[in-house]
Amino acid sequence: MANTRAYAATSPTSGMAPYSFDRRALRPDDVAIEIDYCGVCHSDLHTVENDWGGSQYPVVPGHEIIGRVTAVGQDVTRYQPGDLVGVGCMVDSCRTCSACDSGLEQYCIEGSTMTYGSLDRHDGTVTHGGYSEKIVVSDRFVVRVPENLDPASAAPLLCAGITTYSPLKHFKVGKGHKVGVLGMGGLGHMGVKLAKAMGAEVTIFTRSENKVAEAKKQGADHVIISTDKAQMKAAADSFDFLLDTIPVAHDLNPYLKCLKYDGTHILVGLLTPVEPALQAGLLVTKRRVVAGSLIGGMPETQEMLDFCAEHNITCDVEMLDIRNINDAYERLKKSDVKYRFVIDMDTLKQG
Ligand code: NDP
Repeated sequence: MANTRAYAATSPTSGMAPYSFDRRALRPDDVAIEIDYCGVCHSDLHTVENDWGGSQYPVVPGHEIIGRVTAVGQDVTRYQPGDLVGVGCMVDSCRTCSACDSGLEQYCIEGSTMTYGSLDRHDGTVTHGGYSEKIVVSDRFVVRVPENLDPASAAPLLCAGITTYSPLKHFKVGKGHKVGVLGMGGLGHMGVKLAKAMGAEVTIFTRSENKVAEAKKQGADHVIISTDKAQMKAAADSFDFLLDTIPVAHDLNPYLKCLKYDGTHILVGLLTPVEPALQAGLLVTKRRVVAGSLIGGMPETQEMLDFCAEHNITCDVEMLDIRNINDAYERLKKSDVKYRFVIDMDTLKQG
């Protein structure tokens, strides 16, 4: 067991504060990691504030983790002390169902064990995430971070990167496709970079006029202000795919109208009911599809990191002192971050 300093929320309204707990002793397949950086995902905030229900307090969030291996269990052969590694949203799954067999652990039929707020399958304790100085994870759920990626700006690839990469790959997005990315936050700006690298023509849909220049800087070919009815009307029937990262209930119908026939609207941001209701006619009359996608499996997460290393893709980050995490959450609520906060874990060690 190793005592570990961290930040935790103790209730939906407590805010984040220093906390400490014990990380488990190494199991034979475990990798112990000293955390250098951890991204701040909107899901952390949803969980801290119990937006989805069922949050287990204290919550130690964080699932965009990069650090160095400090020790490995006796059965681990893939990693050794000193390796630069990452941990994303999952730390375990049943490993035997058809989804796990296919490397799609995120769709584990028994339900995967998430990096924080889940019950450990062996000892029943609640998992704690990356707002902490170290973590212990089974080697199947650890990925190798290419050394040519800057580790701080690569940290958000472990969630924002894989969550956008996985559906783009699954739906075989490539040259000749027109892709719209809805919302330019942590996930959205990665969606732009990855869809561009896959060869698509990319448009950002944003509410924020002040993000137009930024969207172009990220590589977007076009920008549509989603609150401008004329711009939305002009975009009718023109997209093959929409990648929707908006984190709150919103009207999908105006966006569905922007899809060509056979176009697909992929939800990644929304886990709560769709409100207002979908107009089925918009689907039926053009054979349009509404789909969803959850993070990505472990082999695909490694593939995404290697793809990013090859194409020199990382996230745009604002480095964060963990002592300012509550202010960072307030800014995240206002979409006032370019485009991911990443905690420098040295600041935890400083007190
Ligand atoms: P961010 O807050 O960084 O970005 C979300 C963006 O959505 C904002 O920047 C904003 O873009 C837009 N937006 C925010 N509020 C509204 C609103 N009320 N109406 C319309 N647009 C809005 O969040 P993340 O990118 O970190 O996460 C996005 C969502 O994805 C979260 O709900 C998160 O929980 C979820 N998620 C899902 C995963 C999955 O596996 N499916 C994995 C990880 C996260 P703009 O200013 O350009 O309009």
